[in-house]
Order: sequence, then C-alpha cells, then structure tokens
Amino acid sequence: MYLALYRKYRPNMFDKIVGQEHITRTLQNQIKNDQIGHAYLFCGSRGTGKTTTAKVFARAINCLNPKNGSPCDECEVCKALKENNAIDIVEIDAASNNGVEEIRDLRDKVKYPPTVGKYKVYIIDEVHMLTTSAFNALLKTLEEPPSHVVFILATTEVHKLPATILSRVLRFDFKLINTETIAKLIANIFNESGIKAEQSAINLIAKAGQGSVRDALSIADMCASFANNDIKYKDVVEVLGISDSESIYSLGSAILEQRVADFFTEFTRLAGAGKNLTVTANDLTKFFRDLLVLKTCGENFVEYNQEVLDKMKNLSQNVSQEKLNNAMQAFSKIESEMKYSLNPQLLIETTALGLLDADVKKN
Ligand SMILES: [Zn+2]
Repeated sequence: MYLALYRKYRPNMFDKIVGQEHITRTLQNQIKNDQIGHAYLFCGSRGTGKTTTAKVFARAINCLNPKNGSPCDECEVCKALKENNAIDIVEIDAASNNGVEEIRDLRDKVKYPPTVGKYKVYIIDEVHMLTTSAFNALLKTLEEPPSHVVFILATTEVHKLPATILSRVLRFDFKLINTETIAKLIANIFNESGIKAEQSAINLIAKAGQGSVRDALSIADMCASFANNDIKYKDVVEVLGISDSESIYSLGSAILEQRVADFFTEFTRLAGAGKNLTVTANDLTKFFRDLLVLKTCGENFVEYNQEVLDKMKNLSQNVSQEKLNNAMQAFSKIESEMKYSLNPQLLIETTALGLLDADVKKN
C-alpha cells in the first residue's frame, strides 16, 4: 500500500486545502455568517478534494469555536468528530450495495438528532451510482430535511444526476489542480517527511498526477520507496515507465543534425532493450513539438530535467522552424501506422532517413 504521503496530506482546515479557494472561501463565509444549507453537491474529477472538503466542512459546522470558518481542532466536538468512527459524520459509498441499503434506511435514521454536535452530516460519495429507487428515497429526504441534518453529495459524473436532485442542492464545481500547485504541495510534504528530491523530479511527479492530488501523492510515494527517499528525475522516469529523455534527445538530435550513424547506434540499442517502439515514436513527436515550442515561445510549456532542457534550448536555436515542423509531422503521421505495422522498427528508421537532407554524406 502506497498511502503514507496521502495520509500526511490530511487538511484539518479550509486554508490547507489546495487549489479550490473559490469553494473553500464560500463555505467559510457561510459558516461565519451562519448561513448553512441543508444539501450540497460537490462535483469534479477524482482526487480534487471533494471528500476532504466535505469532512472539514462537517467538522466546521459543528465546532463550538470555529476559527475563520474552519474547525478549531481543540474543542470537545472537534476532538470527538476527528475519530474515524464519529457517528455524526456518516460516509456512504453509493457505488457499493451497502450504500443503497443505507440510503433506504436513511429516511428512518435522519430523524434522530446528532450525538455530539449541532448537525448530523451525511456524505454520499459517487452519488450518481444510486439506483432509481435509492434516488427517490434520497429525494424524499431532501425535500423535507430535519433541521439538524446536512447532506453533502459528491460525484465525478454530475451529468448523470436527475434534475430533481440538482434543483435541491447547492452546487460546487471542483477544478483540476494545476501542476505548479501540486508541485509546491509535494515539495512541502517531502520536506516535512525528510525525503530529498530534485526539483525536476517533483515537477514530473506533479505533472503525472494530471490535476489530482491523490494520484500525484501516490506516485510520489512509489518514487520515494523506489529511490529510498532520495528521488532523482531518472527514478521518476523509471517508476512511470516513460522513456528517458536522454535517449530521446540522442535520437532526435541525431536526426536533426543528420548524424545517421549516431541515430542507428542509439536506436538499435533501444530496440534491443525491448522498448515499446510505439511509445518511442510518440516521444519523438513530442520531442520535436517541444523544440518548436522552445524556439517560438520559451520554456514554460515543456518539462525536462535541466541538463536536457539546456541542450534542447541550444538545439532549437540551431535548427530551422521548417525542419522541426517536418520532423514533428513525419513522426506524428506514423503513430497510428505503428500499431498495425509488422515491422515498427523499420517504420521508424525509414521515417528518420526520409528526413535527411538531399546532400548528406558519410561522416
Ligand atoms: Zn472546534
């Protein structure tokens, strides 16, 4: 199980939830102004903080002495609700059979008041998975909720929810979290955990998370174990199973600089090592794309370790835009052919040779 770092990121207040300020600020204001609704809908991709936010909110509305809309973490209610088995915060996973059962029981259960705080909070995860009969049961409860009950419905697929539900909830849309924000979070967590990591390694992990804190942290965890808490860029490359940028640089630069023998030496080595050549073709397309980006708008939109990046910046200055464009087009064209080709190695070789200038001589 690779959950150690994700457990470390367990925000206990709104200010520690990253990337969703448009939501956390609104919720904090509702708490400060005592305008708490009875049904909320949190939608957005997995790993964007829906359940985390729901739990902080559930504790904040019950806290005896909230600080800036967040739970104080010190009062008896906060302490009681922090326990995993706190009975006033009920988490239901609608994706499991058990979840449907629980919704059925809900109508009878909601009338009982909370045991420790002011509100009993029901967090229903993946609410779009409920069966029609369960939806109807939920709807009846949402129509006349007892004053001590707050529902937080969470879903990754809001379009699957019936309009009758949507019209009864306060909706919040969770965004994918940008790479920079995730990178900062990972750097902090690594710091606190005594894990060393190159900045380029952190950036690559953050990018691989694709907007999800949870995914990024689970990758971070794998990398930390793999590299024994001293993470280099190449370790992340290895863990993610992507091609290492040094080899792609060797191949791509040899093609652009017409060094045919160098190209064949590196390419034969890669093919011999059993690398997936379809991935290699994709990587080359991306490499030429990145050189074009470097040449035309700078380094903000490309991600390599510093050493390779410096070499690429240099290379991009010495090759014409037309040549880069031709190479990018040629390799992107063969990507679909690669899957059906009986000899993908030959396909890459002929494509590379096809890019040679007419007057290349043996060097
Ligand atoms: Zn409190």
